[in-house]
Amino acid sequence: MGKPLILITNDDGYLAPGLLALREELSEVGEVWVLAPDRNWSAASRTRVFHKPLRVSPVRLPDGVVVHITNGSPSDCVSLALLGLAPRRPDIVVSGINAGANLGRDVTYSGTVAAAMEAAQAGVQAIAVSQDLGPEEGDREEPDYRRAARIAAGLVELLLGEKPLPPGTLLNVNVPLGEPKGLRVTRLGTSIWRDYLVKGKDPRGRDYYWLAGEMMTSPPPGEEDTDVWAVFSGYVSVTPLQLDLTDHRLLEELRPWETKITLPSR
Ligand code: MN
Repeated sequence: MGKPLILITNDDGYLAPGLLALREELSEVGEVWVLAPDRNWSAASRTRVFHKPLRVSPVRLPDGVVVHITNGSPSDCVSLALLGLAPRRPDIVVSGINAGANLGRDVTYSGTVAAAMEAAQAGVQAIAVSQDLGPEEGDREEPDYRRAARIAAGLVELLLGEKPLPPGTLLNVNVPLGEPKGLRVTRLGTSIWRDYLVKGKDPRGRDYYWLAGEMMTSPPPGEEDTDVWAVFSGYVSVTPLQLDLTDHRLLEELRPWETKITLPSR
């Protein structure tokens, strides 16, 4: 059997140090092919660019390696690659390493996670990898992404070997700052942000609004088995996600509505 093909993408853009570290480390595990956005798409979720043509071009990175970049979104990157731009069908898609954790319900905002979802939807197993940057205060130091990249490589080896993911699922991986205390398999927590609204006046005297957030300093109680708790407590968090967003319990509860609600008749 030949080397497995690993597709790498991200939402921070092709120049992000997290992507460079991931590419380097995964080259040890298989053949790597990179298609990444040409700009930052953080918090783009599963945005797709349908209203203008997509362009793809090869670019030489500072380390001499050639990657492919596009004006499309993270989801577009995966779609383009799987629909024919990759040299062959990838065995796995790895998205990241994102600058900043993607935890709890905030994963629905994440372009990093969205790219992995796109792969899962197309029947290719996928991991989203994010590096926590710690509390938001002042200028933060650039973290060393190599640790997270090595963890990603270990998971990729597992998934390509003994334990492939079931269809329609993906892994969301978050790595804490510093040396991890261990690894926890977790469920999604709630959120690490407390949102607030900032209102100001622009130089022309008109109101503007800024949607801002303050990072919580500890996870809410009752979240000890969550990704939020794990990363706050210094553990690597691995959360299995599924594309099926159906609430199966509520579905059964709502079943009586099928006969309860009178439909308008013409
Ligand atoms: Mn990002």
